[in-house]
Parts: sequence; C-alpha cells; structure tokens
Amino acid sequence: LRRSAFLEAIQKHDPNSTAVVHSLSGRSFTYGSLLQDIAIAKENLLQTTGKDEKSISGERIAFLIENGYDYVVTLLACIASNAIAVPLAPSFPASELRYILNQSEALALLSSSKFEKLAQETLKEGLDNKVTGVHVDKIQEGATASTEIELTGDSTDPEGGMMLYTSGTTARPKGVHLHTAVLTAQCKSLVEAWKYTPEDRLLHILPLHHIHGTVNGLLSPILAGSSIEFMFPFNVEHVWKRLAAPFSSDLKLTAKVEQEPITFLTAVPTVWARMLQSHPELPADLAPACNEAVQRNNLRLNISGSAALPLPTKEAWTKLSSGNVLLERYGMTEVGMALSCGLADEDRIDESVGWPLPFVEARLVDPDTNKIIELGDEKTAEGKDRSGEIHLRGPTIFRGYWKNEEATKKEFTDDGWFKTGDIAIRKEVSGSGTGKSGEWAKGPAYFIQGRSSADIIKTGGEKVSALEIERELLSLPEVKECAVVGLPSVAWGQKAAAVVVLSKDGETGGKNGKAWRALDMRRALKGKLVAYKIPQDMKVVDELPRNAMGKINKKDLVKAVFGDQS
Ligand code: ATP
Ligand code: MG
Repeated sequence: LRRSAFLEAIQKHDPNSTAVVHSLSGRSFTYGSLLQDIAIAKENLLQTTGKDEKSISGERIAFLIENGYDYVVTLLACIASNAIAVPLAPSFPASELRYILNQSEALALLSSSKFEKLAQETLKEGLDNKVTGVHVDKIQEGATASTEIELTGDSTDPEGGMMLYTSGTTARPKGVHLHTAVLTAQCKSLVEAWKYTPEDRLLHILPLHHIHGTVNGLLSPILAGSSIEFMFPFNVEHVWKRLAAPFSSDLKLTAKVEQEPITFLTAVPTVWARMLQSHPELPADLAPACNEAVQRNNLRLNISGSAALPLPTKEAWTKLSSGNVLLERYGMTEVGMALSCGLADEDRIDESVGWPLPFVEARLVDPDTNKIIELGDEKTAEGKDRSGEIHLRGPTIFRGYWKNEEATKKEFTDDGWFKTGDIAIRKEVSGSGTGKSGEWAKGPAYFIQGRSSADIIKTGGEKVSALEIERELLSLPEVKECAVVGLPSVAWGQKAAAVVVLSKDGETGGKNGKAWRALDMRRALKGKLVAYKIPQDMKVVDELPRNAMGKINKKDLVKAVFGDQS
C-alpha cells in the first residue's frame, strides 16, 4: 500500500516553509507542523470514533470548521485515514446539514468552537443514524507538540477521499464522492497547467465546501508546496488592503497583516465584479498600491470560474491591472476542473474557457442526434456553429453519485463518458491554441453556451443560448446585472425573457429620461442580436438571488419574478 500523493508531497516539502497563514491575525503554520498535526489528528480520529486503520476506511466524517488551519488538518487527517471527508457549509441551516448527514450516512460530525452550537442543534433530532458529535480540539489534542511523529497508513485505497455536494443550482444538492486517486489526478492536472510553485502565495477567499475552494484553492497548492493565506468571510475592503500591503509603506494596516505579496487569486465572477465596483471608492493613498499589486509581475495568476465571466468585468480588470488578463476556466463538482484557458496571454481568450486540461478527455455531442461533433467539423454547411453537450472522461472524473445509482446511470454513457449537461461550441481562434501554454492548450477552444436544462431556450424551432443574450445585455451601459430565462409560450414553444438590475445609466436611460423598460431594451439589442434572440419581456429587480458560489437558480428566479409557469 502506498501513501496518498498529498501526504507524500507534504513530507517532501521544505518543513520550514509556510503552508497556511491566517491573514488577519498573521498566525502561520509550516509544512513541518502540518505533517505532524495531521498524524496526531489521524490517531485521535481513530480513537474518538472507536475505529481502527481498517474499519475507518470509507466511513464518512463530516465537519463544520471555519476556513483556516484546523480545517486543513482535519481534511487531510480524514484523507490520511482513508475515510471520506465531508466538509459542511457553516452557512447552512441545521435542516440542510441534517440532509447531508443523512444522505452521506455520516459516522461523526466534528465541529470547531465557533460552530459547536450549530452542530449540537443539527444533532438534536431528525437523524436516521447515530452521528457522534466531536469537538475538533479532541481531534487535535497534543498537536504541534515537538515530538517526531511518523505518519503510517495509506490512502490510495479506493474507498477514501472527499465528498462534496453540488451547488444545488438546478436541483437538490447531489453527493459527489471524489476518491483520493481522483482528487490527486485533478490536482496534478491543475499544478501542471497553472504551474503552482512553492513561491506562490494564494489568497483564499472562497467557501470550503465546494470544488473551487477545496481542489483549486487548497489541495492543489498543498500538492505543489505553495502557501495558502485564508481570509474569510470575503470582505472586499480587506482583500484590497491585503493585496496593497506589501506595496504601500505608509498604509495604516494593523501590524499583524501579512506583508508577503499575493501571487495567486482564484474567485467567482461576482467577486471580481465587486472588487472592481469598490475600486473607485478606495482611499486615494491606497489605490496606487492596489493597482501595483494586481499587475502581472506581482499577481502572477488571477482566475475566474464557477459561472460565466461577463466580458465587461474581464475588460475592466485588464485595464485596472495594466494588462493582467483574467484567466477563465470551467469545472464542476463531479469532475474538478475540465477546461481552462492557458497561461500565455494569447491563450486567455475572451468568453472562452479554453481547452481540455491535462489528463482530461473532452468531446462535444449533439444532444438531438447523439452524434459526436468531430474536430474540424465545428460548422454546419451554412456556416453556423454546431453546439453540443460536453462529455468528459479520464482519471479526474468522479465515479458516481453517493447512494444515487439512478442519477449515476443517467449521467454516464455506456462507454464511460460523463455527460455534464453543459452546452458548448468549439472555435479556432487566431494566434491562440498553439500549445504555447502547454501541450494540452492546442487547437480549437471551447465556448460555453450554458446549461442544457436552464440556458438553452428553444424558441420557434431555434436554439438560443441565454448566456449569449446575457453577454449582449451586459455590454449595454444601462445594465448592471442580468439573467435571461426561457418562459413557456404558446406561439413559440419558449420565449426569452430578461431579468435585469439597472445601472445608474439605466435609471434614467429610458424614454424622456425615465427608467429603462422592455421597449428600450429591445431597441438597444436591435442589430446586435437577430430578432428571435431578443428577449420579449423584461423585469427590473433590485438584486439577483445568488447561492454561495454566486450562481443563480433560474428555476427559482422564474418563479419569483414571473410566477408559477408550470
Ligand atoms: P447542481 O448540479 O446542484 O445543479 P451546480 O451544477 O451549479 O449545481 P457545481 O458543480 O458547483 O454545481 O457547478 C458546476 C456548473 O457550473 C457547471 O456544470 C457549469 O454549468 C457552471 N460553470 C462552471 N464554470 C463555468 C464557466 N467558466 N462558465 C460558465 N459556466 C460555468
Ligand atoms: Mg451540476
């Protein structure tokens, strides 16, 4: 039996190098202490659950711990024990947490002091099985002692790993079991493509119960020996101050704020948008240091994903950072990251998510005919882009939903391709895809059109991408945010409708200086989109409802704005 790649890597990293930092307190932990604390936590985990090395294999260990060192130790101790780590969202109410404890059939719930009350409430009632509640201190008792501790055991066993629940954007969250071998492949793929190094310092501002925060923001940097600096919850002003800290001599920061430059920042599109929105309000003496911090020679890599990146956000960031272009990628809970733009400038293509990452096989399949869209066959005889569902295969892909064989069967083809439910087109883009960013970044690039269930609107026999309409709407000065949805229509089957948050321009951009209305929208889109793509309805709202990952549940949105459409 071999030890998991994560523990092997931690053992090989310089023990004195920084693994984890708590941004605001400045507390920091080395790779040496991390290794030791994982070993202790593993021993204590076995003791508190009454299991041995063998019987803990594959058991689900849920935990409620804030972002930081204790979370990292607990996650890795579960992986080292060959258990399945189930990180829970502290923002969830007890009833949602109970759903996950029941669905995953968890053996124990570990909680930190901060969430002990929530854990106790969760464990009070409504559970199908006995779940042992354990304070996380018990798991870490004796940690950071100076004794040498040898980490025994294995975690490449097929049973261990991590279980994440999907964001619940389209249905009730599904449990996705990511075996340690799958997690390893996902992280190796990212380390190869994005070149994480021990010199990198990643600012971590994401929730830790999703793939973006766990695989991209935590396990991949750990595999590479980078430092992870946790700042949570996300606070836009804190992030700006933190980025600026090393570049401003007279910045009145608390002495404890870290001074090491941030080289790596990965976030969801709404975070990038909020950073940009708040920039004009920064104090005059802070702005220059912020601008310097986000330039390419300092912030080596700025990545966006989890939802489509609006072009105006990308363009504004490029301007602010003097050409440090946001790199967009596409992924999901079930597969980690699957497609990504490249590190080279010309491979950070507007509105594209790039190419299949290392170890990932991707194909497009026409959902109506089930025919594969071959390379070179991306256009129809009339010159239209052929769109297809993204199918994925390879060692980074999960092997099935937890206790949900029906869903697993439905989402895999007989020959082992995972059907993502997302629709894309592929296009050659001149100057890019030459392999400059790595062997994987070659040929035509992928462009996401949206989810087949929610973003592909079938109107009058045409298939329309909601994302494409959203992009056009967002390029108008009157629109701050928007979501395009399909509504049932007797005449057309479906019709597109827009839900819009107006910008300041939008408040007065309509006829006679009045707030923008549906007619103004239709006029503004004329000539930019063919007639059948222009939304027939528009509703103005103050805010679009988003989940923890900044995504919009379009089914709920339709219900809230247009009423029951079924
Ligand atoms: P659920 O499966 O419960 O409905 P979810 O699909 O939102 O929720 P995740 O696994 O967190 O849960 O998200 C994956 C989805 O996010 C992808 O299937 C895709 O639709 C979307 N996505 C991720 N990255 C991008 C991107 N760069 N552009 C557009 N969409 C993206
Ligand atoms: Mg999904």
